[in-house]
Amino acid sequence: MPNGGIDNCANCRFRSNSDRAWQVNETLECTIRKVAIRHPLWTYCANIHTRSSQPSGPIFIAGLEDYAARPIGEDKLKVITPLGATYVRIPCDDDAFPMLGASGSCCVCAREFQRGISLTSEKQGRVLFCCNKHYVDWWRKKHPTEEMRWKYELYDPEAAQTPAMPSQPTSRKTSW
Ligand code: SF4
Ligand SMILES: [Zn+2]
Repeated sequence: MPNGGIDNCANCRFRSNSDRAWQVNETLECTIRKVAIRHPLWTYCANIHTRSSQPSGPIFIAGLEDYAARPIGEDKLKVITPLGATYVRIPCDDDAFPMLGASGSCCVCAREFQRGISLTSEKQGRVLFCCNKHYVDWWRKKHPTEEMRWKYELYDPEAAQTPAMPSQPTSRKTSW
């Protein structure tokens, strides 16, 4: 069983080949969003819960493991890693999937970081984020009217009172 929650694409009625079990390492297609799902055990969306074939909100992936995260959304799912961090779900930018493990300079706070988040799309090229929070802050500005089923208070590198988090957050998956 995946650690990030069982409500994932591999268990969804709207995935391709839903008449049979998902095979390990098999790439699926979401039949209602027409998007390839490369890591079905670590990809999620609200439709698995609503059961509606009308796409509802963004697709999410399991983002960086976050030791300070607290769920506040409609779905207060909290799944804990073996080391006590939360598997935070972060939204995709339409059909562009964030990738984990990038290094560079954050486009939100300008901090240099390692093992953060990158997002590449034809429209804007490659943009980098030091943490889940700065990625989600950026995403909200781009999608002001979209509802996120999973929301969190997240580790904030700019808030001194934020509980400790490793300066190089880790994550299980690095490419999507
Ligand atoms: S993206 Fe959503 S609707 Fe599509 S297969 Fe995954 S959980 Fe199901
Ligand atoms: Zn940042």
